[in-house]
Amino acid sequence: MRLALVSLTSDPDMAPDLRLKTDRIIRPDKDRFLNEENPFEAMMSRFDRAAELLDLEPGIYKVLRHPEKQIIVSIPVTHDNGDVEVYTGYRVLYNTSRGPAKGGIRFDMQVTLEEVKALAAWMTWKCAVVNIPFGGAKGGVVCDPLKMSVSELERLTRRYTAGIIHTLGPDSDVPAPDVNTNERVMAWVMDTYSMHMRHTVTAVVTGKPVEMGGSLGRREATGRGCMLVTKEALRHLGMELKGTTVAVQGFGNVGSVAADLFVKEGCKVVAIGDRSGAVYNKNGIPIDEAIAYVKQHRTLEGYTSGDRISNDDLLLLDVDVLVPAALENVITSKNAPKMRAKIVCEGANGPTTAAADSILEEKGIFVIPDILANAGGVTVSYFEWVQDRGGYFWTEDVVNDRLREIMTRSFADVLNLSKLHKVPMRTAAYMLSISRVATVHKLRGIYA
Ligand code: NAD
Repeated sequence: MRLALVSLTSDPDMAPDLRLKTDRIIRPDKDRFLNEENPFEAMMSRFDRAAELLDLEPGIYKVLRHPEKQIIVSIPVTHDNGDVEVYTGYRVLYNTSRGPAKGGIRFDMQVTLEEVKALAAWMTWKCAVVNIPFGGAKGGVVCDPLKMSVSELERLTRRYTAGIIHTLGPDSDVPAPDVNTNERVMAWVMDTYSMHMRHTVTAVVTGKPVEMGGSLGRREATGRGCMLVTKEALRHLGMELKGTTVAVQGFGNVGSVAADLFVKEGCKVVAIGDRSGAVYNKNGIPIDEAIAYVKQHRTLEGYTSGDRISNDDLLLLDVDVLVPAALENVITSKNAPKMRAKIVCEGANGPTTAAADSILEEKGIFVIPDILANAGGVTVSYFEWVQDRGGYFWTEDVVNDRLREIMTRSFADVLNLSKLHKVPMRTAAYMLSISRVATVHKLRGIYA
């Protein structure tokens, strides 16, 4: 039996044969024009590169190229003024070979099935990179939550949950927060599911409020993970942590927590931005103040502790570390040649297009890929699921220690692989995760 296992050894005799054997892979859309901004194709082009290097078996290659299940639901919602609007919601289970599907739910006008498919695949690779026993999923509803009242959002969430309820469950599909969803939304998902099951099921979602089975440290986990792997990258590159300059695009859950923790580690966050634009201050932005401002005003619009710059300019700043923590496709072949950051820590999912990858590589920019950089969130989601199922809850220190252990070990695994096979961190991360998923597929075999 031939397993697509990646060697982590530094012994050259033990390394797998990585000669390109592209003719072994039959690609149905091989010659199709690659749309730089199609997130699923962006994910697939990285997948293909890693698959070729792994010499993945064609059958397993085909299986891993297709999502297991794609659900589309229409969600009627009565608005506060009595009008009815019908929203579209998606849930995609990409791969469940290693365990229950795991992945967030986002509410955003830009949500498409292609995007949800890509995000679900990324979740599959992400869980495998940090080696937690989950598959990958994602969900989304096309809506503008900033224009909806709290009660409209609650009705939307509950109806969406009811629409996809047959896939949900602690052993089958476990959502979490993502763009524009939060603890409160997760509480509604958990309650709706529990009402249908006729008993309380805390482990059906993660990222819940701590009072109802959430984990301490979950809200901060993704930003904390970004900070932890950036520290490892700085160490690897021989750069000082203290005084490191950082720019953060996206000032929501991931971006604001990462910015706050960078400051606590002695770094200087010189720029932050959100959907309303960005702010630059060469002396450092007072992050506590900015967080309090956004809490009150929902965005950074009107925030004045710095000069207003555009989000595009923020990405081109001459900083040590750039953390894109908003949406995908912000680093493209157009702006990558002008970027000056030394390290890019991908807090968001898919912020860099595949076409931009090689440009950043040529420029010597060290990229900590999304499936590693932002895996802190799903890691503590895993801790939350474990705690819910065990009915025994950990202290915040235990959560943070275990998170640190997993993030630093995963960074080292990917770095070792990248050095061993002389490939960028992103390719190494894909090789590691795809080989882990492929190995389980091989061991399990194809049912029926
Ligand atoms: P969030 O909704 O809390 O924050 C998103 C931020 O991005 C907001 O500040 C918003 O204003 C900003 N934004 C939106 N559109 C923008 C634009 N066009 N330009 C600049 N900024 C813009 O979401 P989040 O949970 O922080 O997620 C951010 C990213 O991190 C997403 O890609 C998400 O998939 C990814 N992620 C989140 C988690 C998590 O635990 N929350 C885990 C892993 C990955």
